[in-house]
Amino acid sequence: MVGAGVIGLTCAVRLLEQGHRVDVLARDLPLETTSAAAAALWYPYRAYPFEQVTAWSKVTFEVLARLAGDDETGVRMRSGTELHRARTADPWWVSAVPGLTRVTTMPAPYVDAWTFEAPVVEMPVYLRWLVGRVEELGGTLTRMALNALPDGDGAEAVVDATGLGARLMAGDSSVMPVRGQVVIVEQVGLDRWWLDGSGPTYVVPRSHDIVVGGTDDEGAWDRRPDPEVARRLLARAAELVPELARARVLGHRVGLRPARPSVRLEAEQRGGTRVVHCYGHGGAGVTLSWGCADEVATLVSG
Ligand SMILES: Cc1cc2nc3c(=O)[nH]c(=O)nc-3n(C[C@H](O)[C@H](O)[C@H](O)COP(=O)(O)OP(=O)(O)OC[C@H]3O[C@@H](n4cnc5c(N)ncnc54)[C@H](O)[C@@H]3O)c2cc1C
Repeated sequence: MVGAGVIGLTCAVRLLEQGHRVDVLARDLPLETTSAAAAALWYPYRAYPFEQVTAWSKVTFEVLARLAGDDETGVRMRSGTELHRARTADPWWVSAVPGLTRVTTMPAPYVDAWTFEAPVVEMPVYLRWLVGRVEELGGTLTRMALNALPDGDGAEAVVDATGLGARLMAGDSSVMPVRGQVVIVEQVGLDRWWLDGSGPTYVVPRSHDIVVGGTDDEGAWDRRPDPEVARRLLARAAELVPELARARVLGHRVGLRPARPSVRLEAEQRGGTRVVHCYGHGGAGVTLSWGCADEVATLVSG
């Protein structure tokens, strides 16, 4: 497995559960990846094609909902509200959520809204939990920066879960960064998430803090937080959740979403090695992770 973000680790766990031996190699360890910057609300966003993304999201919803029963995973089911400034049709992924309900009263300037319960994944906790699963199932995790995918060396398959790194590893220039900046603020007693699709502006509560986002700058590679952007994010978030106006800022994070016109999930024969590519999950890597991992496991097994 090349890559130790949410995709590589989830695929590793699934493969280990099915009896494969798995060694994970990665330049960035889990807490240093884009995955660690994710908010992370279950929400299909900037990932394509719609039909497969809906199917993968549905599977992942069910797995995460089960994991939410165990505090150690960092997954929790939380209700929240998505607000719109114009009349809006049901989201294209509506069939992946068990219960999405239209709201009839909402504050101006919003004219449409819906609410649903979804998994919220506290990434620092969850990524550590995934690493723990990899290790307890007998897998390994090694820091290693590669300049090409390994040739397999007798392995059944090499899985390419390198996210944005697939530009180099798979020679795929259709993977592009979509920069996302978030501000982490103190918990002010919030237990619901809020989303205004027009920003996008989102407020995602976790156990000890709240993630406030966001931005989506296509083609931007700068991983330094911009203080002016952070100020604007906080101002927008305080319009959604007024209590946030006084919340203490704990930190800033930037991640580069690995966006692609469509997720690449397919097997390719390279010499004597089967390579299974799984990258390009855009703004929804957490949301798609378990659905994609099941397909990777099928492709590895041939
Ligand atoms: C601000 C922000 C908020 C987000 N919010 C959400 C959300 O609420 N819900 C959601 O579902 N998604 C969200 N996302 C999107 C999500 O974070 C990504 O889709 C996901 O992290 C992609 O995971 P990945 O494992 O493919 O990539 P990454 O996490 O980037 O991991 C890639 C791995 O490959 C390794 N690698 C790359 N190149 C090499 C190489 N040459 N040699 C060795 N190793 C290599 C890296 O070191 C790393 O370990 C958000 C993203 C951002 C930035």
